[in-house]
Amino acid sequence: MRAIEDTYLHKGLRKKMVDTIREKGITDETVLNAISMVPRHFFLDSVFEKHAYEEKAFPIGEDQTISHPYTVAYQSQLLQVKPFEKILEVGTGSAYQACVLAELKAKVFTIERQKKLFDSNKEFKFLSTFKSIKQFYGDGYEGLPTYGPFDKILITAAAPYIPEKLIQQLKINGVMVLPLNEGENQRMHRITKLSDGSLQEEKFDEFSFVPMLLGKKN
Ligand code: SAH
Repeated sequence: MRAIEDTYLHKGLRKKMVDTIREKGITDETVLNAISMVPRHFFLDSVFEKHAYEEKAFPIGEDQTISHPYTVAYQSQLLQVKPFEKILEVGTGSAYQACVLAELKAKVFTIERQKKLFDSNKEFKFLSTFKSIKQFYGDGYEGLPTYGPFDKILITAAAPYIPEKLIQQLKINGVMVLPLNEGENQRMHRITKLSDGSLQEEKFDEFSFVPMLLGKKN
């Protein structure tokens, strides 16, 4: 069961969460504002409602998790989203990150490999109010060739390598943000596709994501 009411208590807790994220080093006010707009407790089972605004990842079913609020803010900040950009997100999960991107005024194409998570999002009423989010059931390693090329690509699961087909679906000067496996954890990378097709790579902090797996799951 999902919570559907956004009370003053939730709004107060959300403001505190945004302050915590700011203190942890997120400086982009448009990202902080987008985070403050999305009621994170809507994305969790109501048993976790009281904790929805803590700096924690939570289970969303099918062995998957909604990312930490700080991680969502961190990836969103690195993407440097501008209004009306086309963004491909790999790993819809709870669709929380997709809504934050939509609040940043992007056109979001989000893809999920697990049918059950995809189906549950199709029934998620709050999500259906975002007309700029299109959901797909498929394998993120394949991307969405018919909808590309994209201005930005965001991978929200631990990638073992940079998926070649996603690079092909990125515009020139397009940017991909992804956590790349490094030992037990992942290091956040930002890849820019230069005009000669070569890739510029920047490295950031370490994180811990669930794995990006091959193929679809029924
Ligand atoms: N962005 C999500 C984070 C979910 S966790 C959120 O805001 O809640 C990562 C998600 O990636 C999981 O739902 C997992 O099923 C999905 N995933 C893993 N490998 C994938 C792949 N190859 N293609 C699409 N989705 C994938």
